[in-house]
Amino acid sequence: MRNNPLLNELLQKLAYEMSKLPGVGPKTAEKYIFYLLNQNEEEINRLANLIAQLAKNIRLCERCHNFTSVNEALCPICQNKQREQNVICVVARQQDLIAIENLHEYNGLYHVLRGTLNPVEGVTPDKLSINSLLKRLEENQINEIILALDADINGESTILYLQKILKPYNLKVTRLAKGMPMGASIEYADEATLANAFKGRKEL
Ligand SMILES: [Zn+2]
Repeated sequence: MRNNPLLNELLQKLAYEMSKLPGVGPKTAEKYIFYLLNQNEEEINRLANLIAQLAKNIRLCERCHNFTSVNEALCPICQNKQREQNVICVVARQQDLIAIENLHEYNGLYHVLRGTLNPVEGVTPDKLSINSLLKRLEENQINEIILALDADINGESTILYLQKILKPYNLKVTRLAKGMPMGASIEYADEATLANAFKGRKEL
């Protein structure tokens, strides 16, 4: 697309930004742009407005770092007093939280780390929301921490790190059962596999 002389600078810029999206390379970006060009102005504006609203209307929950409305300090899960207040499920990303919520197996709280350790890409422990997790443990009566992280190298090293750092807190720390295939991400795991891994979680 960048070398396509038929497309002007605007389209090239848009293609460049779109190709940053996960799973969207230059070819797919081009496909999306041509699709949009064939829509009427109203249709394009509707999409553009919704994207613009994301930044303005969504913020991170002050407690667990899940997404929430900009008007709320806490997300709906943290606000829900019906949920078990003494279990925290630690996930890497908000979409993993959604995958676990969709199982309807878990009724506790969450903590979103906002990534997993990845020294090659500069993701060191201070880049993850680990301090705020420890603070929650100090301020609340938590009985169990469930480490629901991807079954890949970064997930494993994050589990090892957290296991070590959580030791002094004297609580039950569990991880998902080994049923998840190596390299599997929580987000894309099929529901039956994830549900089994969740139910069969093992104490560390
Ligand atoms: Zn929350």
